[in-house]
Amino acid sequence: MIIESCNLCSRRCGVRRDENGGNGFCKAGTTMKVARIAPHFGEEPCISGKRGSGAVFFSHCVLNCIFCQNYKISHGGFGKDISPLELANKFEELEKIGVHNINLVSGTQYIPLIRQALLLHKPQIPVIFNCSGYESAEGLRLLNGLVDVYLPDFKYNDNSLACRYSKALNYKASAVAAIEEMLNQVGSPSFDDDGMIKSGVIIRHLVLPSATKNSIGVLKQISESFGSRVLVSLMAQYTPCAKAVGHELLGRKITKREYQKVLDVLIELGLDGYAQELSSSGREEIPDFDLTGL
Ligand code: SF4
Repeated sequence: MIIESCNLCSRRCGVRRDENGGNGFCKAGTTMKVARIAPHFGEEPCISGKRGSGAVFFSHCVLNCIFCQNYKISHGGFGKDISPLELANKFEELEKIGVHNINLVSGTQYIPLIRQALLLHKPQIPVIFNCSGYESAEGLRLLNGLVDVYLPDFKYNDNSLACRYSKALNYKASAVAAIEEMLNQVGSPSFDDDGMIKSGVIIRHLVLPSATKNSIGVLKQISESFGSRVLVSLMAQYTPCAKAVGHELLGRKITKREYQKVLDVLIELGLDGYAQELSSSGREEIPDFDLTGL
């Protein structure tokens, strides 16, 4: 496959991508690379359940945050080549193991190839697209009818933080537009009899150290733009990784006071969803990127 002018995410690099590589920000070509395929238990209860979520971790990323906990694959591009047909077969294998859903993690840069895999085999269980909130609407439209649940991040209300930490211009408006497109496709959340999500949008927000104003702004924006049409997952698990180790602002975990301040606003706004325990902060939830399942 050749992408003549890539605009899959809001960077809109407009570059040519082919099997030999790509010159865009994400550096991905048009051969998919994956670092791990396995049941994963670190997601929200309605996603992980008892049998785990069938997670596929894609290599490269459209954001490359300086604090990324998956930096080995997002910044480093570690992974193994996999074709759409092989990925479709992996979906079937995961279904046979009995996972609750297929969870496509950070695959924005490969949307056309993921689409091919899903057209070859659309799983009977929900397909979750777990992403950065920096997708372009035209990129997302390629997944219309193939994805059941969107799990985007909404990282920044403060665009200057987005530039500093993720080199992302205009992040806030991009996230609002991307989530609106996701809602157009999958609508409000629905669940099965066991409380597992079947369709809808869950927006994740990771609270960063020294950035409660940013977090509160994100929650207010979600409330204003989407209200009860989405669920919110507030995450406390930040731990310094990659270039954030030793960083003047990002080089520590969040405090109880910081988290409580954000949590209070979540409750005040009446947003429905999930809030992690502060004790969740740490590296336990970071899987090994060792080509498991490939
Ligand atoms: S996916 Fe995004 S970052 Fe990668 S080449 Fe395309 S527009 Fe650029």
